[in-house]
Amino acid sequence: MLDVSGIKVIEHDILIVGAGGAGLSAAIEASGMGMSTGIVMKSLLGKAHTVMAEGGIAAALANVDERDHWKIHFRDTMRGGKFLNVWRMAELHAKIAPERVRLLEEWGAVFDRTQKGLINQRNFGGHRYPRLAHVGDRTGLEMIRTLQDHGIHQGIETYMECTALDLLKNEKGEVSGLVCMWRETGTFIIFKAKAVILATGGGGRGWEITSNSWEYTGDGYALAYEAGAELMDMEFTQFHPTGMVWPPSVKGTLVTESVRGEGGLLLNSKGERFMFNYIPERFRSETADTVEEAARWLAGEPGARRPPELLTRDVVARAINAEVKAGRGSKHGGAYLNIATQRSAEDIKKKLPSMYHQFKVLAELDITKEPMEVGPTCHYFMGGIRVDADTTMSSVPGLFACGECAAGMHGANRLGGNSLSDLLVFGYLSGKNASVYAGKIAQPPDVDQDQIRSIVKNATDILNRESGENPYLLHEELEKICSRM
Ligand SMILES: Cc1cc2nc3c(=O)[nH]c(=O)nc-3n(C[C@H](O)[C@H](O)[C@H](O)COP(=O)(O)OP(=O)(O)OC[C@H]3O[C@@H](n4cnc5c(N)ncnc54)[C@H](O)[C@@H]3O)c2cc1C
Repeated sequence: MLDVSGIKVIEHDILIVGAGGAGLSAAIEASGMGMSTGIVMKSLLGKAHTVMAEGGIAAALANVDERDHWKIHFRDTMRGGKFLNVWRMAELHAKIAPERVRLLEEWGAVFDRTQKGLINQRNFGGHRYPRLAHVGDRTGLEMIRTLQDHGIHQGIETYMECTALDLLKNEKGEVSGLVCMWRETGTFIIFKAKAVILATGGGGRGWEITSNSWEYTGDGYALAYEAGAELMDMEFTQFHPTGMVWPPSVKGTLVTESVRGEGGLLLNSKGERFMFNYIPERFRSETADTVEEAARWLAGEPGARRPPELLTRDVVARAINAEVKAGRGSKHGGAYLNIATQRSAEDIKKKLPSMYHQFKVLAELDITKEPMEVGPTCHYFMGGIRVDADTTMSSVPGLFACGECAAGMHGANRLGGNSLSDLLVFGYLSGKNASVYAGKIAQPPDVDQDQIRSIVKNATDILNRESGENPYLLHEELEKICSRM
């Protein structure tokens, strides 16, 4: 029998899997409530996907347009999600997001400012008013930096390059811990915990063309599913309309929606602003239907309606695809995105520094002078682990989930900026409710040796066999199948 008695065991009240915005927000809340809190991550602290977020955090602060209100944010979120959202999650999100953004500022996040010194907010697709609190186009970096600083000083324990393999449960079916593997050495470690929070992000790496980094292989869905939790809406995958299409080595890399938020135009090979031909009926009343009106909106004229480039992501992605199919695509099979004619070079470098740098370095293109080429890229999972809206607990007692790996908040389509605010709101709720749950458990949890043995065997079997499927080839096949569908 496989001997697992020598594997090191560490105990925490709350164990969190994932150190993105959701995991860190949960950890801060749990440790703030006096829980011994550990956080494991597949890569290094500061490397989670959240750090890549560019455009901003959506919250109805009403700093730029005082008509904004959480109820309008709620409406926009529900409409963007085709009303398939769990409405209670969308309600909690819209209500709580402003206070969490202000708290982030209190903890040291340095947001861009309005003339009056308030947190500045920018326009984004599907949001009625300027709503995205931002730091140039590096908002995720500022968010992660702030949460990390705060969390570490509050005493959370971090375990880097430590991959979660499977959850452990006790005889009552409650979560009791987790088996992980150190990536550097391939050795195992067991965590005992009264509650586990999954914050593992999405699974965009299942597609060939994606904005996601290597880490996003949907591990949280598998961990939860194997433990008996329910998944929902797994077919709701978001394609961001603007990924790079050229050169091939960087195909899929994100071009932030802020480019359109700052006035960027989408053009086909004939130089036409084709988005005017794709305005859905439900958005007609608030979308400009002439170039002149769209220009008046950009100049800040009250009452002018928003340009169609700022329609929701699903609408814009489908429109680009339709133009390409109709033979009006850009040179490398996308659409042109032009900010050069809309803003001064100085403005572009100040508002979109990462985009300027990204195109200069990766495509040898100066976006202050030339249009970019863009096309849809797999970006986000709206589906995932089914959770209770108020507590974020899954159907397995003691197993919580938040952030991109949890489902329900965004319905069938997420609005830009609503993920970072989702992480702040539901990360906080997960940390709080997991602490309440763990606080009721008196004894340290038991872990079952047979379960540990089976997890270790599963993880090592592949190294001890002479034949069988090659996982890398399987992954390649999966990417191709998903991309074809
Ligand atoms: C380029 C880009 C730009 C974006 N811009 C914006 C934006 O401007 N606004 C917005 O709202 N949203 C944006 N998004 C979406 C947003 O960034 C993500 O949805 C969000 O950051 C996900 O956060 P998270 O905390 O759920 O998980 P992540 O930040 O994805 O973190 C997941 C964590 O889980 C860990 N993990 C995963 N599997 C395991 C495992 N098996 N064992 C241990 N650890 C594991 C990882 O190591 C990581 O620490 C953007 C996304 C991309 C790709």
